[in-house]
Amino acid sequence: MKKYNISIIKGDGIGPEIVDEAIKVLDAVSYSCGFSLEYKEYLMGGIAIDVTGAPLPEETVEGVLNSDACLFGAIGGEKWDTLPRELRPETGLLSFREKMGVYANLRPAIIYDELVNASTLKPEVIEGVDIMVVRELIGGIYFGKPRANDGETAYNTMIYTKSEIVRIGKKAFELAMKRDKRVCSVDKANVLEVSQLWRDTMEELALDYPSVELSHMYVDNAAMQLVRNPRQFDVIVTGNIFGDILSDTASMVVGSIGLLPSASTGDKTAIYEPIHGSAPDIAGQGIANPIATIESAGMMLRYSLGESEAADKIDTAIKKALKEGYRTKDLAAFDAKEVVTTAEMGDIIANNINK
Ligand code: NAD
Repeated sequence: MKKYNISIIKGDGIGPEIVDEAIKVLDAVSYSCGFSLEYKEYLMGGIAIDVTGAPLPEETVEGVLNSDACLFGAIGGEKWDTLPRELRPETGLLSFREKMGVYANLRPAIIYDELVNASTLKPEVIEGVDIMVVRELIGGIYFGKPRANDGETAYNTMIYTKSEIVRIGKKAFELAMKRDKRVCSVDKANVLEVSQLWRDTMEELALDYPSVELSHMYVDNAAMQLVRNPRQFDVIVTGNIFGDILSDTASMVVGSIGLLPSASTGDKTAIYEPIHGSAPDIAGQGIANPIATIESAGMMLRYSLGESEAADKIDTAIKKALKEGYRTKDLAAFDAKEVVTTAEMGDIIANNINK
């Protein structure tokens, strides 16, 4: 029997509640598909500060690097907001991603037929939307040096090397090969030199993927097009800051923040996590939506473990739960037949695996 080592970081706020439900579903699907998952838990974020004094203990870094993949909940909360920036949970998260070398952030935005009314956009605009945003995660203006703020003048540096662009570009083209074979590269090449290098490099790379259609779009237009006609996109590839903004826009096209998974992948390991935060306002009440985390576990099976059949089963089980009208509180207003708790939603999806 195939066995995989999974590192688990539950984190703070609703993190433990939603990760427990994802584990429930992973157990059901691994049993049903005949492989086994061994979990090892590590601390990070506020809880790590409370227990060890640091937001990112060295043991966590090593444990995750030695695992096949990491399932992550969410970190942060008011309790730690007054700490100096270098000790805060969010600083631990940025440093974690950098240490893991996870340069590609994958954010799918898929619309569930049952929830077309949950979006603020009209159903006829969003029906059938299936976008994958591939965002460069550990380069660009968020990490570029020099950077400074002396109280009078402040600056940051937007920098990409050709090799950084090639590695993220390859991820996008390879994903497109398994999808609708269209990549839209988003930049600001009319103004920025760094974007011109980005665009030229994507053009060169496209020669290696003749079956994939490459197009380019300026970021301001892309923001507009995502809302005007999101169905036109298959894979979007872009740099760190543009991707940060566009992936949030793409996610709101879909409706609830509690539905959206993500993967941060590199050459060493990968981290799978919901796009939302630790939602301290609803923590401990059993009302958080666990679907984004369960979907993230599905992405882990698909992209890190190559267990696509199991990932498909998770997708089907989630769709069935939604089709049958089960909703957590955040989606109660959208055709709910029964409003269920976080744990009940996990049970329903896990039970659907074997149906
Ligand atoms: P948030 O995503 O935690 O919450 C925003 C709103 O969405 C809240 O009203 C919350 O109740 C709701 N929400 C989020 N997830 C939900 C779910 N699964 N089900 C139902 N409702 C859900 O963002 P925030 O309030 O800006 O941040 C709270 C904390 O999370 C902060 O400390 C922030 O730094 C941290 N954060 C962590 C991550 C991460 O761990 N990757 C990401 C973003 C924010």
